[in-house]
Amino acid sequence: MKTPRIVVVGSSNTDMVVKGDRLPSPGETVVGGSFVMAPGGKGANQAVAAARLGADVTLVAKVGTDVFGDQAIAGYRTEGIVTDFILRDPDHHTGVALILVDDKGENLISVASGANHHLGPQDVEKAAERIRTADAVVVQLEIPMDAVACAARLASAVGVPVILDPAPAPAGPLDSDLLRHVAYLKPNESEAERLTGIRVEDEATARRAAERLQAGGVRDTIITLGAKGVFWMGPMGSGFLPGFRVEALDSTAAGDAFSGGLACALARGLPLADAVRYASLVGALSVTRLGAQPSLPTGEDVRRFATGLGIKV
Ligand code: ADP
Repeated sequence: MKTPRIVVVGSSNTDMVVKGDRLPSPGETVVGGSFVMAPGGKGANQAVAAARLGADVTLVAKVGTDVFGDQAIAGYRTEGIVTDFILRDPDHHTGVALILVDDKGENLISVASGANHHLGPQDVEKAAERIRTADAVVVQLEIPMDAVACAARLASAVGVPVILDPAPAPAGPLDSDLLRHVAYLKPNESEAERLTGIRVEDEATARRAAERLQAGGVRDTIITLGAKGVFWMGPMGSGFLPGFRVEALDSTAAGDAFSGGLACALARGLPLADAVRYASLVGALSVTRLGAQPSLPTGEDVRRFATGLGIKV
């Protein structure tokens, strides 16, 4: 099978996670937690997800000239990701997420976007050739909107499908100019609600939200509903796929795993219903493991899981 070529344009962060018995109140210090540092950011997570599934992935991103940037790039190279378009910003630090988690899994997160907020259209243009020759381009909203729009425009101008994971979602509809260049919009429940004002909690409400998004100019909509599953709607029809039964340990990055899987499957030319099923297998597997990038499965993991369920992928 042909190796799909995917370009992800998005954020790269360093996640610093302290796990403790409980979360501190404002002004309070809680002592006695454990510490883990790991690469993160939605763009990077989705790039790693697609690379582990066997795609040829280029990540277009911006990090600082600090040690976190060095470590992030070294990590992406280990994953086989093309890092030629990860730019270094001498004036801004690598994006950092400070995450506090208590023993029930509740968290508090504060993000300093740093260099991510300085990825501009001129930076994306540097990767124009890669974008134009890709089988799919994936974008999210943790970088400036003009960079997202530039990537989408470059891709759609030559018929390369654009997948937009609208996270973090703005309150209210997305810019219709941007949507004209997007083939697949993939919000989760809360993002779909922010974009449409419709509370999404099951198949019926997901359908209503998808109809509203289609009316706003979206071609294909895929709304994920965690363990409940996923609703999809496109010009050829719609459907609901319940979540695969797994023992869920940690749902961090399930949506990113899903997006990486969706991009791979669509880039391989699968029809939307089959691509959604593949992405759901990837999302389900990711929640059986702890962490963001460490939880992302390989193509072989997905094949084994699918075979166990009697599904051919
Ligand atoms: P996000 O991380 O953006 O909130 P979701 O929680 O909706 O994304 O998860 C994305 C997809 O991952 C779901 O549509 C589903 O296919 C899969 N998934 C997530 N959580 C579970 C779960 N507990 N069991 C099975 N599949 C899951």
